[in-house]
Order: sequence, then structure tokens, then C-alpha cells
Amino acid sequence: MAAWHEKTAHEISSAVRGKQVSAVEVATSFLDRIAAVDGNVDAYTQVWPEYALAQAQAVDAKIARGEDPGILSGAPIGIKEVICTEQGYTTCSSKILEGYQSPYDATIIKKLAAAGAVFLGKLNMDEFAMGSSTENSAIKTTKNPWNLKCVPGGSSGGSAAAVSADMCTISLGSDTGGSIRQPACLCGCVGVKPTYGRVSRFGLVAFASSLDQIGPFSKDVEDAALALNVLCGKDPMDATSADLPVPDFTQALTGDIKGLRLGMPKQCFTEALGAEMREKVMAAIEVLKKQGAEVVEVSLPALDYALAVYYIICTAEASANLARFDGVRYGFRHPEAKDVREMYVKTKSAAFGPEVQRRIMLGTYVLSSGYYDAYYLKAQKVRRLIKEDFDRAFTQCDAIVTPTSPTPAFEFGSKTADPLEMYLSDIYTIATNLATLPGLSLPCGLCASGLPAGVQFMTKPFDESTLLRVAHCYEKNSGITLGKPPIA
Ligand code: GLN
Repeated sequence: MAAWHEKTAHEISSAVRGKQVSAVEVATSFLDRIAAVDGNVDAYTQVWPEYALAQAQAVDAKIARGEDPGILSGAPIGIKEVICTEQGYTTCSSKILEGYQSPYDATIIKKLAAAGAVFLGKLNMDEFAMGSSTENSAIKTTKNPWNLKCVPGGSSGGSAAAVSADMCTISLGSDTGGSIRQPACLCGCVGVKPTYGRVSRFGLVAFASSLDQIGPFSKDVEDAALALNVLCGKDPMDATSADLPVPDFTQALTGDIKGLRLGMPKQCFTEALGAEMREKVMAAIEVLKKQGAEVVEVSLPALDYALAVYYIICTAEASANLARFDGVRYGFRHPEAKDVREMYVKTKSAAFGPEVQRRIMLGTYVLSSGYYDAYYLKAQKVRRLIKEDFDRAFTQCDAIVTPTSPTPAFEFGSKTADPLEMYLSDIYTIATNLATLPGLSLPCGLCASGLPAGVQFMTKPFDESTLLRVAHCYEKNSGITLGKPPIA
């Protein structure tokens, strides 16, 4: 029998509720796994053994009293460093928040706890979620479990690596331009960015507020549906959260996609796409065709501008959001300064990494008087055109299919010298955020190098049900299982 740490949340939860195993036994299996392999992977920034076992005991006690602890009973979960937790620290993998303790839990943390989840600790990321390789973390370097010389993707690299290496059953990430889907692709797991507004962001440290969204990493689509059942819904603490009914997403996993129209945007299948990724994604589309999907070509002409638009809007919003880290109210303050101005300058220069500084400068520039109209306002207008392209495409199809990433995982240092090279990693994922759509990446095979490939689906806003239905149908019929990464 597979060890508990190899199992999915739905398997764990039903075994815990059916008293085949205790939540403490499950948590112990995961803690042992972390102790055995995280020395190689470095996904966790903090591990909480006592806290995890105490939560697991509470789940077991509820079961002993005949109560139902919830749909994630005893499921061990890892949390990205950008999500506020009263337990431990919330550092955003930045020196500026070193030792910062949040006075409150994010809404989603409360919701997961109420559903019986057990939290194992915090996971590494690119500083303030800016990056595509987790190399921008000020804490440590997370490795890809499939090849320790390669990056796990980013910015939620720790969250993806932890699920892929069986160090948690589900993890939480945030996605502003691809930070859930791209690392999910590179590490061979399922990653979902829900529709903007679907999940409360109360307690998510903001990067770019009009783009940020929280979502789950999991080992299969069923677990993604289970996690979304818990995470989604209106939160009075987040004015941008949508007041819409949340369906039971597991009901969408019917296996039936007959007559579903699958749109292939021609702009996503150009020479920019690596040959191996193309072959894998095309094979995935064939699987869905066999299951009764009708493939139609769609056009998203404004997509060519998406990367430029994203790096204007996200930097503008980041420069405003990160102004609060000034050495006065949070975290690090430079000890040697003769006045307030010098304190700001020294604090930010010493405690923000180079990528964060670059984005603050770019964002301040595009918002400054004289440049605002030429950059920020223009970018907002083009963002609207991108959204309109998708609206038009969705009159012709029910879901869109694209690659998740142009290439599989790359080696450490191979893109750090050229920020533009790194930004291109998100070429297929950023438009989803600009258009506020839900998107999902799931594994579609291993490349010759032994590294995972991923396929991405997108649907209309708030149609996560169709998104999960297509992904689940592919997962069930592809005949592809990645197996286990060669660590440990
Ligand atoms: N890699 C992109 C960036 O660097 C996306 C990051 C994210 O989604 N948080 O901005």
C-alpha cells in the first residue's frame, strides 16, 4: 500500500472520516517525509510539527465524539509565504519582512481549518511573488523534485515542489500572472487560478491588486475541486470577492465533454512554442477530441501586447502596494540613519532584492506625471482589448486550450541575467489574469529530459465547473501517469 504522504486529500479525508487511519498518523507520515527529502528540495521555509500534530489531534478528537471535521479531514496542507497566518511568520520570502508575525489568519486559512485541514508550514516563493523560478527568494533556493539542477518555476515554487515531492497533499499559492500554473506545469502537478474575485484575498499580501488570486496545487483534479469548494465564496472582509453562489465543483467531474467546443488560439501555437511542448499539448488535444470535444480555431490578436501590458500594470500596482514597507510599520528597519528620508532609502535598498527594486522603479515611472498617459493609461486600454478578444472567443468556444509554459523547467541561473528572458516564461499565463478568467494547468506527460510538461485550460469568468470538467476528462482518459520524481 502507498504511504499516506503519497495519497490525495480525498483519499486521506475519507480514510480519516472512516476511521481507517488517524489524522495524527497521516500528519506524522508527511512530517517524516519532509524530514527525509526537504533537505534536497528546500520547499519549506518553516515546518510546524507541534502545531500540525495538535491540529490533527483536534480532528481525531472530533471524530471520536462522532462529529464530522469536514471535507478535508486530516488533509495536510502547505501555505505560500505570502498568505497571512497567526502561526509562524509571514515573510513573502523577503528580508524586509524577516520575523514578521501576522496578527490574524487569512480568511482562506480559517476556511480550510474549519474544513478539517492540517497545516504543515510555510512554503518558499519569489520575493513578493515577483518571478518565475523562485530564484528571487531571500530565504533559500527551492529545487525541482524532477531534477535538482532545475528551477521549480515561480513564484509559488515551494508550493509546487512540495506537492510534487509528497511533502503535502494540497498547497496554497497565489497567481498574478502565472505563479500557480507555471510552477504546477514545471513540477508536474495540478494548479488552478480561480476567477478574479472567486476566492477571498483578505490576508494575502498584495502584489498587484487587480490581478492577484489565490488557488490550490494538488495531485489530481478531484482534489482541486475539493479545495475550491472550501476556498471559494464571498467574504465581507474582501470587497472584491464575488457574491455568487459556489457550486459543488466535484459534481462537475462527470467525465462527459461530448459537444464541448475547445478553442485553440492560433497566437499560442507559433514558433515561440518549443517543439516538445507543442507535441505534448497537441496530443492532449487529440485525447479530448476522442472524448467528443470539437476543436475550433480562435484568434486573440491583442495577445501580442499582453506581456508589455502586464509589466506596466503589475509594476504600477506593486509600487503602490509595496510603499507600506517603509521600515516604520513592518519588519526590517536599517539601524543607521540620520533622518527619516535616509532611513527609508537605506531600509528599502538593504532589504528589497534587485527584482523587487526594479519593479518598484518601473511602476513609479509608469505612474509618474508626464508618463502616466503614455504607459499606464495606454496599458489599461489594451487590457480592455485583450478582455474583449476573450469575450469574442468565448462566443465560439466553451474552453480555451494552450500550453502552460513555452519550455519545461530550466536550469538555475539560465535566465537570471536577462529579466526579459525570465518574463517570457509567463507568455501563456498572464493574459488569463489580465482578462480576470479562471485557468488551470495539469500534467500532460514527461519530456525526453524527464521533466514534466503541462497543458492549460481557461474558461469564462466564474465557470470553474467547465474548467474542472475538461481537465478531469483529460486526466481520466490520457493514459498518462507521471510516476514519482526521482528524489529521496
Ligand atoms: N512571473 C510573473 C511575475 O514575475 C508572475 C508572478 C505571479 O503570478 N505572482 O510577475
